[in-house]
Amino acid sequence: MSSIQVSRRTRCRLCDSTRLELVVPLAPTPVAEKYVAREQLGEITPSDPLDLHLCLDCGHVQLLDVVDPVYLFDHYTYMSGNTKPLVQHFHEVATTTCERYAVRPGDLVIDIGSNDGSLLRAFQQRGANVLGIDPARDIARRATESGIPTLPEFLTPALAQRIRQERGPAKVVCAFNVFAHADDLAGMTDSIHALLGPDGVFVCEFSYLLDILDRMLLGTIFHEHLSHHSVRPLAAFLERHGLQFIDIQRNGIQGGSIVGTAQRLGGPHPVSPNVAEILDLERQRGLDQPATLRRFSDSLQTLKSQVATLVADLQKQGQRLWGYGAARSGTTLIAQMNLGKAIECIVDDGADKQNKFSPGDHIPIRPSSALLAEQPDFVIILAWVHAERILQNNQAYIDRGGRFIVCFPELRIVGSGRPSTA
Ligand SMILES: [Zn+2]
Repeated sequence: MSSIQVSRRTRCRLCDSTRLELVVPLAPTPVAEKYVAREQLGEITPSDPLDLHLCLDCGHVQLLDVVDPVYLFDHYTYMSGNTKPLVQHFHEVATTTCERYAVRPGDLVIDIGSNDGSLLRAFQQRGANVLGIDPARDIARRATESGIPTLPEFLTPALAQRIRQERGPAKVVCAFNVFAHADDLAGMTDSIHALLGPDGVFVCEFSYLLDILDRMLLGTIFHEHLSHHSVRPLAAFLERHGLQFIDIQRNGIQGGSIVGTAQRLGGPHPVSPNVAEILDLERQRGLDQPATLRRFSDSLQTLKSQVATLVADLQKQGQRLWGYGAARSGTTLIAQMNLGKAIECIVDDGADKQNKFSPGDHIPIRPSSALLAEQPDFVIILAWVHAERILQNNQAYIDRGGRFIVCFPELRIVGSGRPSTA
């Protein structure tokens, strides 16, 4: 029996249409971030639907099953500041935004879903007056203590009005990886519109649907990501809420993301030609067509059966299989690839997950140093985004005859299985 509330939408999150088609069916999956402590092992973690639906009217790809956000984000442990390349990326975004849109010292910069304040810190170092908004209470408190004032709340139109009255209009409003997380995007966008000054800009980052399809980014599909955005449906949605994209930049964050910048409709900043270019690309690629999404679904099925065959062979041969990376993507991969019973333990570089257990299957998490100590036969990489770095950092394990299984973008085995004689 589940104590977690899952509600089911019947309308598109962006355009309110009811013409929604199931395009990528997936196995029900536990909530990805809920790694459990030993004393919680008696509690059953429910698995909830993770299917992707396409809106036939606006082309938006989305989850219709919504896990209660209070459950999802309370005690949320993901900290952007723990990821060095991300901190570097935030500094680049802050520099570009400040230069291009004339952000001056003392200007108000607000970050929605500000996490540990990493992005705002980059703006603060350029003299901006910053304010974070993040409902994850522990993280918000720690950010405030570290000098980034953060309200532990969900952004609502009422909160936006209060902030505007108390602090005046914002020059920059950021929402990084937040447009994927919010169920009520209309309410959030109206709030952003209310916060923005007449020459202000809204900067958002989201995983890009085209990269998910092209690079088989299954690991980015979990319950927190309610939307898998492409530009066309989102641009039309923003316009209905009084905002327009003026710049679109693709990058390699999380395997492929977009930083989009918008202003109030008819605002003072020129519209970059890259907005029309990406709309053209999406049209050419048929990103809003059911057949395009079904091809992705078919590729996933193929990969899934390849992994199943490989794992069954390993089990027959009595080979020990471990996993690498106790991240959110790992939960999705374990559930979709049906690896729950096959993996003996998961190793992770971070301290926060160690001595915990994976959601659902309760696979124990151990430090990555255990790899060399025990030298299991195979390790399947669950932290798909970091596959290359994991391979580089664990050459000693490979040299001693260990083998890595990399699933994406296609299945391959790294290592010969024999100790190198060098
Ligand atoms: Zn729609």
